[in-house]
This record gives sequence, C-alpha cells and structure tokens, in this order.
Amino acid sequence: MTYNKKSIADIDVQGKKVLVRCDFNVPQDENLQITDETRLLGALPTIQYLHQHNAAIILCSHLGRPKGEFNMKYSLAPVAARLSQLLGVEVKMAKDVVGPDAQALTNALKPGEICLLENVRFHKEEEKNDPEFAKKLASFADIYVNDAFGTAHRAHASTAGVADYLPAVCGFLIEKEISVMGKALSDPKRPFVAILGGAKVSDKIGVINNLLDKVDTIIIGGAMAYTFIKALGGSVGTSKYEEDKIDYAKQMIDKACSNGVRMILPKDNIAADHFAPDATPIVTESYCIADGLMGLDIGPKTCEVVTKVIHDAGTIVWNGPMGVFEFDAFAKGTLAVAKAVAESNAISIIGGGDSAAAVEKLGYADKMTHISTGGGASLEFLEGLELPGIACLNDK
Ligand code: AMP
Repeated sequence: MTYNKKSIADIDVQGKKVLVRCDFNVPQDENLQITDETRLLGALPTIQYLHQHNAAIILCSHLGRPKGEFNMKYSLAPVAARLSQLLGVEVKMAKDVVGPDAQALTNALKPGEICLLENVRFHKEEEKNDPEFAKKLASFADIYVNDAFGTAHRAHASTAGVADYLPAVCGFLIEKEISVMGKALSDPKRPFVAILGGAKVSDKIGVINNLLDKVDTIIIGGAMAYTFIKALGGSVGTSKYEEDKIDYAKQMIDKACSNGVRMILPKDNIAADHFAPDATPIVTESYCIADGLMGLDIGPKTCEVVTKVIHDAGTIVWNGPMGVFEFDAFAKGTLAVAKAVAESNAISIIGGGDSAAAVEKLGYADKMTHISTGGGASLEFLEGLELPGIACLNDK
C-alpha cells in the first residue's frame, strides 16, 4: 500500500481552526504521573508547526480503555499539563469532548492558542465511528489533521469519520511513518532483510506472507521459530510453538524457496528446563532440543550469522524480540540484533511494541532510521493492508 497524502505543509493553516488527532495514549503510574513521554515528544513537531503558522489548535486523543464512559482515571488533564511545559504555551483543558465546555472553549479559541479535548473514548460513539459524533467533532474546526499513527489502523470517529466533514491531511508523524515504511516496501535499498520474532506466528501471518514477496532475506526468531522448526521435522522439546500453524509454516518455507528468499531459522538456541528469570541457560542445537528443555533465545552461532546478514543489509525491518528478552539470561539474542542494526549502515525500521522498547532501553534509538510509533498499525502496514486513518486523508 503506497500513500501520497497531503500534509499540513501542503495547505494554508494561517488563522484556521485545526482539529489534530494525536496519540496521547501514554503510560501512567498509580498517581497518574506520565512514565514515558515518547508519544508526547512525537506529537510536538506538528503542534509546533501549526502554532508557528498561527493556527488555533484543537487537540484530541484517546487514553486507555474507559469503555465509553466518563472516568477521570483516564482524563487527558495530565497530558495537557505536561504539553504546556514542553511547548512553553498554555494548553487549555476542556472538561468534556463534544459538550458545552468543549464547545465554549473551541468557539473562543484564537489563532496561536491551543486546547485539548477530553478523552474521545469517554463516548462509545468514538469506537463505533458514529457519524453524528464525528460531525460534532468536525464542527469545532476548519481543517482535520491526523497525526495518530498508533490508531491509524482503526476506523473510529476521531481517526477516520471526521474526515468526511473537513479537508483532511496528515501531520508530520504520520507523514514520516508512511514515507519511510512505504519506500522500504515499494523501492527498498537491497539487500532487504526482515527480522521477525515474538511469541506467535499467528499474530504475524499476514506480515510474513506479504514480506516474502518483497525481501531478500527473512530471519525468524523468538518462539515463532519453533513452529517453523517443527514444520521442518525438528524436535523442539517443551518450546512454545503453534501446532495449528505448522502447515502454514510449511507453505511459507515453500514460498520462500520459490521466491528465492533466504529464510534464516535459529541454528542453535539458549534453552532452560523451566520458564523463569533465574533458570540456568543451556545452549542447544535447534533441530534436536531435548525433551524437558524449552528454547528461550537464539544461540551464539545464530547471533553470528544474523549479525553478518544485518551488517550487509541495505534495508532492515525488525518486529519482535528474538527471545524472552524480559529475562536478562535470555536477552542476548535480542541485544545482538539491536546492536547489529544500530551499527549497520542500512535504512533501519523498527516496528512498535517490544522491539521498539528494547531499542530505546539499550540507548540505540537515535541510531535507527525510524522507530514506528504504532505496533498494530505498523504490522498492518507491513502486511500491505489499508489503514483507514490514512486512507481517509486527501490525496496530493
Ligand atoms: P510479540 O508481542 O508477538 O512481539 O511477542 C513478544 C513476546 O514474545 C515477549 O514477551 C517475549 O518474551 C516472547 N517470546 C519471545 N521468544 C520467546 C520464546 N522463545 N519462548 C517464549 N516466549 C518468547
């Protein structure tokens, strides 16, 4: 799927009221303190641009899962407070989403001013993409900007429905996501290497299938690899695998062969006799893991092969850890991949979720070309699916 959508830089925003859908779904502690502000920082370039161009800015977002009811535990007020500090401009907080307070605040909003509506998921109409709710949101503004890549795979009122009523463009965050990932998929610098890991083949079926038409090499690690090793007749001990996906794994192995794609599965693993952080790590061959042992990470020989392939790559897409990286003893494979990707000269794209968290935690974030801000959305993008929150925007 390639998109050629207008962005805020392609339209006149001077003096206009602009409704911006952001992804302010930040993690918070029990005192509602924001514990990771990556998503706030990601939204700043679009807000700052609109502010510099004298727009009146109406921000909106969801936070958590309030299930369609007002619940102040999920209020965006802490986000407004932190954004005010980050921007150095007051972000006025509305007490509701489309009610009298939001109405009054947005009516009175002047160019250069910023307000934030309450959590759009306080209304069940949001996730139902209710047209009347979308129309009410749209009535506050002259222009709609979607910059919430994390929810771009959802057709909700604030992520897609509102585009039926207003000129609709993307912000800089979505623009970067679709240009970097779109280019990698449509015109990659080769060799193009995909690295897929994580718990389940079933979560990434569409991604494996789509990437096998595009990449030169696919590396499969994590628990996913054991379903493939089973498909090749190996014994995996008590490793996690999916019996009902073995046939699918066989089809993907055949597809890789017929497309001339090199598929790399772990040669060796780090296994243990039980699933615990203090379990003793034992190096084993992948195809003959003994009964009673479970593979929890890729092994040292595999790390060597993978590091070399990454070193020679032109484009890398990585989604999912190579093992149970939450346990230090089984994090080496994921660390080796993160380090190799950081050191390579390739265009490197890290899917959201665990691989993004691993890269951030290791301090490699600024060595990557792009870390996607949406786990689910980036997977659907890599799968070649249409993202409703982007498809609804105006073409260039
Ligand atoms: P995903 O959300 O599909 O990317 O999966 C990430 C999860 O997969 C992490 O919590 C890892 O601990 C888990 N994982 C990776 N490799 C293994 C493995 N060999 N056995 C069990 N869990 C694994």
